Amino acid sequence: ITSRVTKPMDTTQLNNIKNIILVSSGKGGVGKSTVASNLAIALAKDGAKTGLIDADIYGPSVPTMFGLVSAKPSARETADGKTLILPIEKYGIKLLSLGFFADPDQPVPWRGPMASNAVKQLFNDADWGELDYLIVDLPPGTGDIHITITQSFPIAGAVIVTTPQQVALADTRKGLAMFQMPSINIPVLGVIENMSYFTPAELPENKYYIFGKDGGKALASTFNVPFLGEIPIVQSIGEGGDSGTPIALNAESPLSAVFAELAGKVA
Ligand code: ADP
Repeated sequence: ITSRVTKPMDTTQLNNIKNIILVSSGKGGVGKSTVASNLAIALAKDGAKTGLIDADIYGPSVPTMFGLVSAKPSARETADGKTLILPIEKYGIKLLSLGFFADPDQPVPWRGPMASNAVKQLFNDADWGELDYLIVDLPPGTGDIHITITQSFPIAGAVIVTTPQQVALADTRKGLAMFQMPSINIPVLGVIENMSYFTPAELPENKYYIFGKDGGKALASTFNVPFLGEIPIVQSIGEGGDSGTPIALNAESPLSAVFAELAGKVA
């Protein structure tokens, strides 16, 4: 996938995409991919034409979360001889992940420029067609991929995912500040706090804020950006991701409504 670098950059495949929205976090493991996947599903269920790029080069989760671990996208030639990757469609969403092009058991020892070129190809060399939303699951932190994506493509906004622990919030602060730097200057659509509290099945009224309370809200207010909402720790969220059926697909689950509400705030 890194072999062909298009120069100068040809972004025609993005011409019919209305909104490119980044999902970002300061740290790994806070639920960024879970949120990106469930938001994409909630948008698609609402009738929006939705795509999802998994740009988390070092730990691509979308193949697992969509039950596509051994999927390989095919390609087609355009009339002018360009090869376009065909995104894989599942649950009404067009998906591409660097994980589709790598061996899931091998590490990807890419240097920054190679990784950046591979990610650019997921945008520029794919047959996205018309989309209302293209959600991008970024790697954690603030690195080459963030700079490449924010400087190469017209981004509508970024959603920041954090958990309530101080160690997560400290890194999220930097991740959020990056979008507000004058050289990047991308609107922050808001902060989502994941794993906010735990509710035992036998005590459904009780919320245990085991990692601390209101950290995400405080962060949003410090940076003067919206606080979009809390997502509790629920076993079915983890199981949905592991089994390739994200929880937002399940209309019976109250969590579907949580993601639908979050998607409504992002849209
Ligand atoms: P990141 O993309 O930030 O690295 P993931 O979305 O991969 O994080 O989530 C890390 C793990 O935590 C996954 O196994 C996921 O299913 C699980 N998880 C995420 N959010 C929740 C939640 N609210 N409740 C339970 N498990 C969750």
